[in-house]
Amino acid sequence: MKALQYVTVGAEPEVREIPTPEPGPGEVLLKVTAAGVCHSDDFVMSMPLEMFGFDLPLTLGHEGAGTVAAVGEGVRGLELGTSAVVYGPWGCGTCWFCAQGMENYCSRAGELRIFPPGLGAPGAIAEYLIVDSPRHLVPIGDLDPVQTVPLTDAGLTPYHAIKRSLGKLRPGSWAVVIGSGGLGHVAIQLLRQLSSARVVALDVNDEKLEFAKSVGAHEAVLSNAQAPDNVRKITGAAGASLVLDFVGYQPTIDIAMGVAGIDSDVTIVGVGDGKSAARVGFGVSPYEAAVTSPYWGARSELIELIDLAHEGAFDIAVERFDLDNAPEAYRRLAANTLRGRAVIVP
Ligand SMILES: [Zn+2]
Ligand SMILES: [Zn+2]
Repeated sequence: MKALQYVTVGAEPEVREIPTPEPGPGEVLLKVTAAGVCHSDDFVMSMPLEMFGFDLPLTLGHEGAGTVAAVGEGVRGLELGTSAVVYGPWGCGTCWFCAQGMENYCSRAGELRIFPPGLGAPGAIAEYLIVDSPRHLVPIGDLDPVQTVPLTDAGLTPYHAIKRSLGKLRPGSWAVVIGSGGLGHVAIQLLRQLSSARVVALDVNDEKLEFAKSVGAHEAVLSNAQAPDNVRKITGAAGASLVLDFVGYQPTIDIAMGVAGIDSDVTIVGVGDGKSAARVGFGVSPYEAAVTSPYWGARSELIELIDLAHEGAFDIAVERFDLDNAPEAYRRLAANTLRGRAVIVP
């Protein structure tokens, strides 16, 4: 089969011919129908050799959708041909966090060397994908896999980040979304669906600001050194009740802290450069502002998102690429010229 693989640290990923895998005991083989392209892949591929923790070559893609092509020994209750999306942050299934469905925070994944597909385990940008357990599949029925696959990360990550702060999004409050790309443009829609907060989106050019408004932002502001003042003109002195930073570099974290209000949540979702940080302390940050950096979301939350998708809740912006053109999708991602999510359709 064909797969997009990261072969050499520092080089572009390559489309290669590799053996089609067979499901072992307890595993599921999916025929991939769609796979999303994410900034965190770029982050992984920017790591120097001494920091790179995965075996190479690595098949990329941690957003996956497919139809069940075969099941391994012991797999029950899953019909061949079922159309499903993949819950990516695989865990052990039995620790306390996994028991809550929060396999994204599995306490044993490191010790057991359990990796998400595309981030250690072979990923979804291929003709076939091995899923380690049927519990990591969420059936999607008649939903379009290309439109739905971004929900597994670009939807699930903001959903998890927003859900934990819903209590702060009272009527009249403001939520600020920094970055209106793959995750941010879903976050804006989720905020509108789930809360009565008003939404300010920040991004780096007018085209992206128009896009943010087209998916539901009430206001849109250029992300630059004047952004905190310009956002405060909209929110008033109270500032934002929730700030979601989908970029995570120092300039956006500084904006996030600059627009946060008293008793707000500042949630840094973007992976940035892995070094940028918020300063918290008396006189430095707003009183009782809580800063956090979440990772992905829970299995139950992906099920909830798919239910929302069945209600027609989302307008996911997708640019399609075939598997042979997958390297181009990564070039466009790095150049920041994608509208919404790039999805590879094998
Ligand atoms: Zn991702
Ligand atoms: Zn676990």
